[in-house]
Amino acid sequence: MSDDKDLKQRILEEAPRFGLDDKFQFACHPGVPCFNDCCRDINIVLTPYCVIRLKNRLQIRSGAFLDEYAIVPFNKDMKQPVPILKMGDDENKACPFVGPEGCTVYEDRPWACRMYPVGLASPRDIGQQGEPFYFLLEEGHCKGFAEQGEFTIREWIEDQGIAEYNEMGELFKPVSLHPFFDSGDLSPAKMDMFFMVAYDQDRFRRFIFGSTFLEKFVVPQERIDAIRTDDVALMKFGFDWIRFALFQEPTMQLQGMYTDVQKRERDFFQQLKEADPNNGNQDE
Ligand code: SF4
Ligand code: SF4
Repeated sequence: MSDDKDLKQRILEEAPRFGLDDKFQFACHPGVPCFNDCCRDINIVLTPYCVIRLKNRLQIRSGAFLDEYAIVPFNKDMKQPVPILKMGDDENKACPFVGPEGCTVYEDRPWACRMYPVGLASPRDIGQQGEPFYFLLEEGHCKGFAEQGEFTIREWIEDQGIAEYNEMGELFKPVSLHPFFDSGDLSPAKMDMFFMVAYDQDRFRRFIFGSTFLEKFVVPQERIDAIRTDDVALMKFGFDWIRFALFQEPTMQLQGMYTDVQKRERDFFQQLKEADPNNGNQDE
């Protein structure tokens, strides 16, 4: 069993389970002796919405953000690509966004940073039945549990601005937790497509508007106008497209003449190559 799976198993079996109205004692502020200790050598998973918030904060395109600030680890147990924040490669392994005064992208920090030290566990992660629950990550280096402060989980979610991230995360669940992944594997080409649509939003936008993509689907003009400039609208459109293209869900409507599934797939990947010969990682 991998370390990651082992940790999940232990949390599911041993961690005290918290509901939304359960309280915990905790406070974090620049006066704690461990200030910034948690912003190094850590796996921060980036959701599609985290990428949007951070790349817009930095005023760069998604491809440049992913190249510079993310890595996409992969092993044979992984069913889909999941970017994580790239820590420094020196021995300190600091987050690229941590400064002497704390997080320099605080208002746009990722979901995982907002949640810490609260964790959210899903029994489904290791193939068990049951409801998701919250737990506390009480790590030795974190002195916040000795500080005067009390929150319910609900108050923590409110205090850390997590609700908006959760709302966007709910939209991603029909994609990321799709039953397809219980037994199916994405081909390398589909894996790349999944990554582009879910995380490399600017590359996906270039593909949509740089190919005949929109000629093949019935998309209301209002939605086309929105996805041209609005990253969240594009993200939602992308989720619909993944569900349609990879899981054959009726989330998009084809123009009448374009219903041959195999031809559609062949054309899609051909167009992807033509519209984006450099894999979309060049930012114009
Ligand atoms: S993004 Fe901010 S809060 Fe998150 S690890 Fe980096 S510095 Fe810390
Ligand atoms: S280790 Fe804990 S208390 Fe210290 S800065 Fe990080 S979250 Fe705050």
